[in-house]
Amino acid sequence: MLSRRVISQLKDIFGPPNVLTSKISMEAYAYDSSPFIHYPEAVVFADKVEQISQLMKLANREKIVVVPRGAGTSLSGGAVPVHGGIILVLNRFNRILEIDPVNEVAWVESGVTNLALQQAAASYGLMFGPDPASQKVATMGGNVAEGAGGIRGVKYGVTRDHLLGLEVVLPDGEVVMIGGLGKYVPQIDLTGIFCGSEGTLGIITKILVKLIPLPEAIRTMMAVFGSLDKAGEAVSQIIARGIVPTTLEIMDQTMIRAVDDFINVGFPREAEAVLLIEVDGYEVEVDRQVESVVSICKEQGATDIRKATDEKERQDLWLARRSGNGALGRIKPAYMVQDVTVPRHKLPDMLRFVSDISKKYGIIIAQMAHAGDGNLHPHLLYDPFQPEELERVKQASHEIFTAALEMGGSLTGEHGIGMEKLEFMTQAFTANDLDFMEQVKRALDPHLVLNRGKVLDIA
Ligand SMILES: Cc1cc2nc3c(=O)[nH]c(=O)nc-3n(C[C@H](O)[C@H](O)[C@H](O)COP(=O)(O)OP(=O)(O)OC[C@H]3O[C@@H](n4cnc5c(N)ncnc54)[C@H](O)[C@@H]3O)c2cc1C
Repeated sequence: MLSRRVISQLKDIFGPPNVLTSKISMEAYAYDSSPFIHYPEAVVFADKVEQISQLMKLANREKIVVVPRGAGTSLSGGAVPVHGGIILVLNRFNRILEIDPVNEVAWVESGVTNLALQQAAASYGLMFGPDPASQKVATMGGNVAEGAGGIRGVKYGVTRDHLLGLEVVLPDGEVVMIGGLGKYVPQIDLTGIFCGSEGTLGIITKILVKLIPLPEAIRTMMAVFGSLDKAGEAVSQIIARGIVPTTLEIMDQTMIRAVDDFINVGFPREAEAVLLIEVDGYEVEVDRQVESVVSICKEQGATDIRKATDEKERQDLWLARRSGNGALGRIKPAYMVQDVTVPRHKLPDMLRFVSDISKKYGIIIAQMAHAGDGNLHPHLLYDPFQPEELERVKQASHEIFTAALEMGGSLTGEHGIGMEKLEFMTQAFTANDLDFMEQVKRALDPHLVLNRGKVLDIA
């Protein structure tokens, strides 16, 4: 428990109403969107960079762990205070500082939501490439810290690909600017170190990102398959033939039925899999892309192809995709969602492997994947009041991690390592690799006060 002296210092820094210590408040900040629960000892709300700087100086003096938190939508336990300490809530840093349509960049504070940036950019005919399904609430700070992606990732990449600069409060309280606008910023390129560092190396307060023009034309379609394998093959073929769709998403039968039960959009319930495909670009080119995609899907045995004929039909298809997570609540009260990647040509193998694992462990796994990126999101369903079922879900997850690594993939495409995949880091990296990462962490944070217990398993 934090001493009265420390709590009083926190109140001096943030103002008494912005420091919570009651039991009920600690309950509210003990979890994020992962299954993990650990209680903090205090929660503080910052709205000035100077407060964060002072907090980190205090944390270093007192050796207290600080956990940065945006919207708490992390799926790997990134915002869970596994070592107790102080939760630093950052969503009051919510100002869009500048949209520069000439240079096609934006400066935002880290608590701005992804959607707020998209909306502000759209009024200039621009967009921010990454569009995570959590975009209504997830913050830009969280997006940078997790290296977030989204359904447009096949064509537009992930947060890392759009990041130009950052203002960061380092673990010792120093405030630095890194990166910036221009073809070449004459300094060591450090922005990449913070992107995907999951709040373990610094607290991001301002972000400079690239924006890109909104496409002139968009075409959206759904291809229906009688076999999951065939749908996976179609994905490989589309990419192999040089087409770069904006989105290329796969959903299996469990997911299709759950979504259809939930929002009744007339999804093909008997299909083994559907591909949701979107292409964008200039008006003159998109229909040719559609023709190529349709012919590849037919070659691979698609039984039906439905093209969205207007914006409403297009929005219905994406509503169906975005409803996937919520729809599963009708089957079981909880799920563990995995995030492994595999090389694209291994996608059919991995989809099949996950189906087999579902049978082996007697659990329901609904499959959804950013197929074009080889990034799978198997949702392993369970009842939290059945510990034995949760145990089977964990074992099944472990087999999925191992298989992804054996296929030349990775533990995570966009949800991070957090607490969830810590123990698999030794499987994914050599001792030398891990040692190097630890040296970087210790150089910036020698007392391990910033989000200890995430990404690297160091005491
Ligand atoms: C329904 C649902 C759908 C999702 N869909 C996607 C998706 O399509 N693509 C995707 O990539 N992810 C997705 N996610 C995961 C999650 O939304 C992202 O990881 C998101 O980037 C987290 O943002 P956040 O503001 O909620 O961060 P939090 O959950 O609060 O924190 C996440 C991590 O970032 C750190 N952090 C947060 N803010 C800062 C900061 N300012 N400085 C330093 N560190 C910080 C935290 O310490 C923690 O380690 C989804 C989650 C849910 C619940």
